[in-house]
Amino acid sequence: MKKNDTFVVTIEDMGVNGEGIGKYDGMTFFIKDAVVGDEILAGVTKLKKGYGYARVIEVLTPSDRRVEPACSVARQCGGCQMQTLRYDVQLALKERKVRDNLKRIGGFSDGLLQQVMEPIVGMDEPFRYRNKAQFPVGYDKNGEIVFGFYAARSHQVIPVSDCLLGVEENALILARIKEYMQQCHVKPYDETTGKGLLRHVLIRKGFHSGELMVCLVVNGKELPQEDVLIASLQKIEGMHSISLNVNTENTNRILGDEVRLLWGEPCITDSICRVREEQTGGGNFASTEESVSFEISPKSFYQVNPVQTEKLYSLALEYAGLSGEEIVWDLYCGIGTISLFLAKAAKQVYGVEIVPEAIQDARRNARNNHMDNVTFYVGKAEEVVPAWVESRDVGEERTSPDVIVVDPPRKGCDEMCLQTMVQVAPKRIVYVSCDSATLSRDLKYLVEHGYELNRVRPVDQFCHSMHVETVCLLSKKS
Ligand code: SAH
Repeated sequence: MKKNDTFVVTIEDMGVNGEGIGKYDGMTFFIKDAVVGDEILAGVTKLKKGYGYARVIEVLTPSDRRVEPACSVARQCGGCQMQTLRYDVQLALKERKVRDNLKRIGGFSDGLLQQVMEPIVGMDEPFRYRNKAQFPVGYDKNGEIVFGFYAARSHQVIPVSDCLLGVEENALILARIKEYMQQCHVKPYDETTGKGLLRHVLIRKGFHSGELMVCLVVNGKELPQEDVLIASLQKIEGMHSISLNVNTENTNRILGDEVRLLWGEPCITDSICRVREEQTGGGNFASTEESVSFEISPKSFYQVNPVQTEKLYSLALEYAGLSGEEIVWDLYCGIGTISLFLAKAAKQVYGVEIVPEAIQDARRNARNNHMDNVTFYVGKAEEVVPAWVESRDVGEERTSPDVIVVDPPRKGCDEMCLQTMVQVAPKRIVYVSCDSATLSRDLKYLVEHGYELNRVRPVDQFCHSMHVETVCLLSKKS
């Protein structure tokens, strides 16, 4: 076979990146946009030894698991990989991905996984879930200003002003910005020439508060006739903050360092709620809602799917099993989202995070929520916590946690960090992970060093992509 050859194939499975998998002529093909159960006409795009890549030329017999994508640019845009796959099948696929990694990398048996794995937590409504969007600005073929998203693996702007993962207000805000650009002759930034002014538009919305934030990323210190822009945007219901971010560098980084407030408040506020179900006897449950508020600036990190974040963190807290007496470490704590919930139910929480700005936000959020039993430290978890343990000065309370919660980035925990966790021997470890492969590797280490795996639950935070979050509970073997 050679490139551009065509063949008819039935898709037998789905790959870890959401692509269809089919076999032809003794070779395995990975086929983007094909769905398990489809019979398709495929065209070879790349050949390797024993396997290859192909594209869908025509769907000959559609699978019963295929759906019409809700978004008209689902195929071109790099944002969604699986919009053509029924949502329940997406969920099953993610659950299987977590189970397979736990088995293959973690070495856990089918029998154990059967016992400890709970069903994936999906979304009730898998659209309009993102509270943040960053739209690049460019021109289309006709020289018209467009906002959109980058195509997969490229910087070509695919026009989408109303991404169905984002909030409805995005389209209105972008339309107003386009009007302003036309009226005041503001050109989109061109990364090849370095000319033009407007690079990106960042929009955030607090789902509980309804507050909106717009930040225009500009290749310069200012925009012409800023008052015209402000007058138009401030009228939008919920508008709370309009700012300008200066980014004059030739870089892939979206935001520069300097933010200048144009109108309104520098931050929006939002809250994360946790619903706690408690048995009150006689088979009855009482549910109490606790909420923690967060200030969000254009540059702060904040979870992008607030609905699922509440479910994810509620699970992490349930797994932590706090009674009010515990000393807790929250490693990789970011802006302290998990720490602040833990602090409501624990004696003392110590949070560690590498990004100094995130710790500033965490401390401010703790103050705003009147919590004085949480302390945050800047640094690498694998350096900060071993130093506590080695030092005689920090006191026994800090070095003997009852519960450790970790929520590391994709690469997982550093071995030094795992080693220290095992050394301080907490009763429980709650592991929140965005990569089930590194999670499995780290769980293997922990079970080889005195812990047992009790509960595992995947949570779908990023519908239509193959990303999946997982929460696990481990306890110290007696
Ligand atoms: N639970 C956090 C988010 C965790 S995301 C929240 O809700 O805000 C993972 C975090 O780990 C990021 O904030 C990242 O900056 C931080 N991080 C990455 N490497 C780290 C390291 N070596 N030590 C400590 N924190 C680290």
